[in-house]
Amino acid sequence: MEARAVTTLTDRLIALIAQNGPITVAQYMTSALYDPLNGYYAVRAGLGESGVGADGDFLTAPEASQMFGELVGLWCAQEWMTLGSPAPFNLMELGPGNGTLMADAWRATKIVPGFHAAARLQLVEIGAHLKERQAHALSKVGATPTWIAHLDEAPGAPTLVIANEFLDCLPIRQFFRIEGRWRERLVGVKDGALAFGFSHEVLPDETLIPPALHGAPDGAIAEVASALPAFVATLALRLAQAPGRALLIDYGAQQTTGGDTLQAVRKHQRVDVLDTPGSADLTAHVDFPRLVALARDAGLAVHGPVPQGAWLDALGVKERAAALAKARPDKAGGIDAQLHRLTAGDQMGVLFNAVCLSSRDLPPPAGFEKMA
Ligand code: SAH
Repeated sequence: MEARAVTTLTDRLIALIAQNGPITVAQYMTSALYDPLNGYYAVRAGLGESGVGADGDFLTAPEASQMFGELVGLWCAQEWMTLGSPAPFNLMELGPGNGTLMADAWRATKIVPGFHAAARLQLVEIGAHLKERQAHALSKVGATPTWIAHLDEAPGAPTLVIANEFLDCLPIRQFFRIEGRWRERLVGVKDGALAFGFSHEVLPDETLIPPALHGAPDGAIAEVASALPAFVATLALRLAQAPGRALLIDYGAQQTTGGDTLQAVRKHQRVDVLDTPGSADLTAHVDFPRLVALARDAGLAVHGPVPQGAWLDALGVKERAAALAKARPDKAGGIDAQLHRLTAGDQMGVLFNAVCLSSRDLPPPAGFEKMA
């Protein structure tokens, strides 16, 4: 008989905390998402699901509408030409989920002479079962990707990186402003259950805290994705070795707001962050001002962030929707609903932002010209 894990992740975390003391929110997030036995990705793999999509836990832009991946694909083709149509070049995606975005992008760029022949498709994905889904989705459009463990493992060549809802998975630490000092929010145990609390120690100074929140009033919350500097540094190195760009789309405000953005989502409903870790997707908003500052410090050129709705508008999403509706009048209502979902202010249009990080001395990327 197959050996089975009988302890839940909650039980294991409680035992760990009993032994070593409370853990940080980042440690909790890391376990809840990536624990090889009971983390969210492992649990979804065990169920043969991805979690992404209408029948999963959360809906992303490419899963909501093919127009998203198509426009991202045409953006890539445009920027490839801006780079001088290099052959070969790396077309890289971070966290491709079901592979829908890249499949739509690949289909849309079939008409671009030389683009497919020049592209070396590089995917960075942590979930083994998701690689299978990506392989399947891409084989349907005739694309053969390679998987690499990390973005610096791609062959040396000009590179276009795309990532949608990838940075929001990076574990965050949270610091709360209490009586004029910053204390770290920790996960401990109370009455036999996981519970939030605070560190006894206060931060010695505000080096770790986003500048916009220095000296913030009580009640402010600072969120810090510890892996972001290393991510930006790796990207900057790659884009210094050969020209290229990274298009990063995620949810998060353009200004640092100082609120709690950690959220758990299961079956399209927000649930308690500490409830049954591994059973829900956990994310936090991307701190765009920090991302921009880190990128500039690392020598990258930065365009945006611009709201997703405005960016898609600039790329011609309305025209694309009209063309699709004209070709399939029976689907016009659905296409209109998708357009609304991607671009409306109360949908994904404003909460999501797009930012482009580039090698120096390139013209503004498509869709960012007016906002540059
Ligand atoms: N981009 C897709 C999926 C978003 S979900 C879409 O828009 O639909 C987040 C994706 O990032 C998943 O594929 C997840 O497995 C992957 N992922 C999360 N953390 C990762 C990490 N540290 N390294 C590589 N991939 C990761």
